[in-house]
Amino acid sequence: MAKPQTSKPRSEKASSLEGSTWRGFILLTAILVGVFFYTNIWKTSLLTATKEESIDPKDYDSRAKRVLRSTPLIDGHNDFPFLLRQQLQSKIYDHDFEAEKLASHTDFQKMKDGMMGGQFWSVYVPCPADLVPGADLHDPHRHVPDLNEPNWAVRDTLEQIDLTKRLVAQYPKLLEFCTDPSCVRRTHEEGKVASMIGIEGGHQVGNSLGALRLLFETGARYVTLTHNCDNVFGTSWVSVDQATGRDAGLTKFGQAFVREMNRLGILIDLSHVSPGTMRDVLLIAKAPVIFSHSGAYGVEPHGRNVPDEVLKSLKHNGGVVMVPAVSISMNAAHPEEATVEDVIDHILHIADIAGWEHVGLGSDFDGTTYIVKGLEDVSQWPNLITRLLARGHVTDQQAELLVGGNLLRVWDEVERAAKESQEGGKLPSEESWEDRIWEVENTDVPGLFPEEL
Ligand SMILES: [Zn+2]
Repeated sequence: MAKPQTSKPRSEKASSLEGSTWRGFILLTAILVGVFFYTNIWKTSLLTATKEESIDPKDYDSRAKRVLRSTPLIDGHNDFPFLLRQQLQSKIYDHDFEAEKLASHTDFQKMKDGMMGGQFWSVYVPCPADLVPGADLHDPHRHVPDLNEPNWAVRDTLEQIDLTKRLVAQYPKLLEFCTDPSCVRRTHEEGKVASMIGIEGGHQVGNSLGALRLLFETGARYVTLTHNCDNVFGTSWVSVDQATGRDAGLTKFGQAFVREMNRLGILIDLSHVSPGTMRDVLLIAKAPVIFSHSGAYGVEPHGRNVPDEVLKSLKHNGGVVMVPAVSISMNAAHPEEATVEDVIDHILHIADIAGWEHVGLGSDFDGTTYIVKGLEDVSQWPNLITRLLARGHVTDQQAELLVGGNLLRVWDEVERAAKESQEGGKLPSEESWEDRIWEVENTDVPGLFPEEL
């Protein structure tokens, strides 16, 4: 006889239990999904309200601050490390820069007031004496620098990099050393200033692609192709013959330099180069370039500014021109009258010719005493954005591109191009300048190859 079943078979019981568990699970999931969507819709509408509705469009000051909170303001060029080298012999530990108010364009309180998100610190070392500025490259009697002759530019550049990294490490509450764009975005969210290194002149890499690669390893993330002197890579703006407009542009070895920078993923900076060098680089560059501190020639015909035809070709390259606060290149005829409004004129001209995707900011603070009124130091960045928005036809989104959105996009693209190049098997370049002399200092060593029989 079968035992009366007082309970359901085990399997049935289990399936009934599973059924109620599933029902519970589905109900709970529905509640959670509902809560999730409700809170997100609420959050989104709140954000939209905060972003779009709660600020009077004519309240330019509040809009400027909102722009600087949402996007890191990245200044392309600041020479503060050069002041530390010249005036403190690179000894920074005797000072408390967190507490000290400095007379320079840059100090920590000014950076906080300026709502800065990122800074490319220039590790500038002047051109060696033999790289004379203004040499006429077509003069057969011109002084030709001996490229085989060593100089101290690479040592001094390494010291400047060391100094900058020590400064950043000493003040971790304000500064963070960054070598990629994601670090800049993260650091800005944490309320600190992302600190990057830019090398201002090809002479600082000692004419060597090997040295370039190792400087990249130290964390340097841009090299200006020339400073105010020609070098083995190309022609400086100073060397363009004012009378004839003769401009030798990029050299053959300079082409190898550009290709190697693209392979490495280091930003190519075209501030200080001649228009011919700009054009030549833009023809071969495989990634967007930057002009770390240059204005618009169409507004002020000064040799340090970028001609309109180059601005037009930037659209195809994707690069960005970062406008400085330097009075002599903003208004060469009357630098003493130059103001933040001149800087805005340059910004709007570049946006007009190349597009809002191709303009940025690169002050040159602490690299010169010729600075415009209304943007006298790093604390004045919000004033620039406020004045820009007050022109009346600039959107917050355009201001966000200007302050840092464009530079971050350029840097992302430079990294992507380098990754593709390296994954495609492109090896480090072994090229050198023409006529390089390879010293043979000791012949009493084994030969590499068996003698041919
Ligand atoms: Zn400069």
